[in-house]
Amino acid sequence: MLSSVWIVPLVAVALAQIAVIATSVYLHRALSHRALRVHPVAELLFRAVLWLTTGLGRREWVAVHRKHHTFTDRDGDPHSPRLFGFWHVQLFNVYYYMRAAQNRETIETFAPDLPEDWLDRTVFAWGWCGPALGLVGLCVILGVGAGLGAGLGHALLYVFVLAPLIKKFSVGRGEFDPSWLVIRALAVVRLVALARVAATRVPPQRGGAAQSDAATERDEGRARAGSGG
Ligand SMILES: [Zn+2]
Repeated sequence: MLSSVWIVPLVAVALAQIAVIATSVYLHRALSHRALRVHPVAELLFRAVLWLTTGLGRREWVAVHRKHHTFTDRDGDPHSPRLFGFWHVQLFNVYYYMRAAQNRETIETFAPDLPEDWLDRTVFAWGWCGPALGLVGLCVILGVGAGLGAGLGHALLYVFVLAPLIKKFSVGRGEFDPSWLVIRALAVVRLVALARVAATRVPPQRGGAAQSDAATERDEGRARAGSGG
């Protein structure tokens, strides 16, 4: 049994990193901005990883993120540090996200291209079951104490440190985005490819057109260049 002291932080960091990469590559680049095309096998893997490590629903995440782009730092932005304060968003990101994700109008307006499929309805809609199942798996592999410790460490890292920063990865010179390595590796085995068509435009709502497009274009550019979100 892997119960050494160092295994707990190591597994916690690894799980948080895996969750962040799945969020960045699949939810952000591939679905929200349509900058990548993902092979169905890789898509299933990303969805399963996200379900087990975060419980996030893809329609909700995409809708909230697109709404953020549409109203960046203005009234309507679900989680703007400028509007709500940096520490508020950093520490209470879950609250801001859940508030926006539970709004059906937000989902229907900003993710109309992502209808629920049978996997959403039968498996992934059970959001909390994913992390619970992942935690049981950790306890089986590492032992109960180490498994709970690694799961808690992963949750704290993802929720309070990494998730609020995902869309800001590698925006400055010299910064490194590990998602790019994953994209390159998956591209080599043809599990992802850069999209050839322009990214999906969400219909501008309530006067959010100009900033939305500009922000989205910057975002797509980074995604296509593989260096940011
Ligand atoms: Zn984005």
